[in-house]
Amino acid sequence: MKLGSDEFYKAFSEKLEKNWTESRKCPICGQVAWKTAKKPAKADIWGESHAREKKSMGFGVVACGNCGYTLLFNAIALGFDE
Ligand SMILES: [Zn+2]
Repeated sequence: MKLGSDEFYKAFSEKLEKNWTESRKCPICGQVAWKTAKKPAKADIWGESHAREKKSMGFGVVACGNCGYTLLFNAIALGFDE
């Protein structure tokens, strides 16, 4: 599945729901007010020696609606294409 596709939000939400078996309390504020971003975040990851090794990686984003604490999930590890 392509990372930026319209199905990303639905598929990511389903995987999150399946995988999130631990407490859902925010570790910062203690509330349960998580919000899942509609689109993945992209971050540039640089190799150790040269800028040529720059890669872009996608992340599913879940943020606490109360304090803003944010969780990032590696999209490739979840089975999404780059
Ligand atoms: Zn919080």
